[in-house]
Amino acid sequence: FATLPDLIRAHAAERGGKIALASDAGALDYAGLDRLMDRIAAALHRDGVAQGQAVAIVAASSIEYAAVFLGALRAGCVAAPLAPSATAESLVAMIADCGAPIVFLDEDAAATLGGREIGAKTVLLTALEAWLAPEGATPTPVTIAPEDGFNIIYSSGTTGTPKGIVQSHAMRWAHIHRNASAGFGDAVTMIATPLYSNTTLVSFLPTLGWGGTAVLMKKFDARGFLELAEAHRATHAMLVPVQYQRIMALPDFDSFDLSSFRFKTCTSAPFSPALKADVVARWPGLLVEYYGMTEGGGTCLLVANQFPDKLHTVGRPVEDHDIRLIDEDGNEVPQGEMGEVVGRSPAMMTGYHGRSEASAAAEWFDAEGRRYIRHGDVGRFDEDGFLTLLDRKKDLIISGGFNIYPTDLEAVLAQHPAVADCSVIGMPSEAWGETPVGFYVPHTGVDASVADILAWTNERLGRTQRLAALHAIDELPRSAIGKVLKRELRDRLAGTGA
Ligand code: ATP
Ligand code: MG
Repeated sequence: FATLPDLIRAHAAERGGKIALASDAGALDYAGLDRLMDRIAAALHRDGVAQGQAVAIVAASSIEYAAVFLGALRAGCVAAPLAPSATAESLVAMIADCGAPIVFLDEDAAATLGGREIGAKTVLLTALEAWLAPEGATPTPVTIAPEDGFNIIYSSGTTGTPKGIVQSHAMRWAHIHRNASAGFGDAVTMIATPLYSNTTLVSFLPTLGWGGTAVLMKKFDARGFLELAEAHRATHAMLVPVQYQRIMALPDFDSFDLSSFRFKTCTSAPFSPALKADVVARWPGLLVEYYGMTEGGGTCLLVANQFPDKLHTVGRPVEDHDIRLIDEDGNEVPQGEMGEVVGRSPAMMTGYHGRSEASAAAEWFDAEGRRYIRHGDVGRFDEDGFLTLLDRKKDLIISGGFNIYPTDLEAVLAQHPAVADCSVIGMPSEAWGETPVGFYVPHTGVDASVADILAWTNERLGRTQRLAALHAIDELPRSAIGKVLKRELRDRLAGTGA
């Protein structure tokens, strides 16, 4: 066992001139990063921040952000990266929940918080230099045990209030090690999703753990991403499905030189089989899809290039991860049938921070009493052990006694040439209990009426699946990590009485 700060110190000693962090604002090598982490850790200790306390960061990705995250670890603190897209109320609640005595902000986050009393010291990342301990300062060494907290991450809040999840040094170490085969040692990894998300950290942390280079993008745009990747001869990237969608839709995608790519990953939301096939066909290197959760239940992995006939699945459980499917009564379902996903792995959370009821509700125990975590997703294993995800349990629509999986309907709606993006939700119905209602973002330049698209879609759906209504919308509400926020769509319809 070695901590990430120790791994970084070793890289600094062995190849100090190697670039660790790069962005459009500059670059920092391993020797520089190691010294900066020392100055941050020493300043935290100087300010009275104790080992085991949380250090919150609310900012867009930057070199300073990454350095504060890593410097906090060196001080023995728990990094608490929070979503800058969150509301001021939600940020104040998360800062109180994790108990951070100090919060690092970029200017946008400072504006979001306004002058609000947050009960913690604040440091602006733009003024980091003035706050740092002097050049050459060394922090008091701390001893870190494997079970000590590494970071606290708040779940995406896709289905409700974000829940704090503490991940230990041991969990992160296991994860960094599992990624050895991905060749992170000489990786140049594009980091285009926000650093507060576990989705981002699962490629950012192994890159630094193995001595590669992380290229940070402050704000994603498809063309900017390709230009930056080309300029850095990027080898790795972690992107979410909506980012792949936007990149592949660029008319001149094929004119970029992406031959340096070896490994691209995708996770966090449904990824259409057609889009996976397109990425495999036109973008060099492996495409690896992960299915998992911040809570660390179990993870499945699909190497899309190797299984062209399994693109409708999220792959098979990775080594040491056990995934089972259970019914409403908590019994395992027979092979081939659908059930709620529960998972067990070496990287499981102990529980949600300060929420014993929610933690207990997220647990499932097998006949031998082993603990699993409920994923809240519904899935089915095929005869080769590949998992097909049907939907989130909360998004499932029960209409007239039939189960309707919104992703099935979305897959059909998405095929209409006038539909650029879409989502399907369940709305209360007196006659049926619930009925499916669709939303779509029109494609510019393709002419079709809402009624035509609705009729076209319903012709292609089963009798029990048909959409009761369809609405055009300028843009789907998405979280900063690209997940469609279905509860916002529901609120919108409920609010208009449509
Ligand atoms: P919250 O739990 O706060 O509502 P969240 O579940 O979106 O938010 P995360 O831990 O970021 O928080 O996401 C895990 C969920 O993301 C999974 O349970 C699953 O629904 C979805 N997901 C992850 N990977 C995939 C994938 N490859 N395909 C489809 N869905 C995925
Ligand atoms: Mg979840």
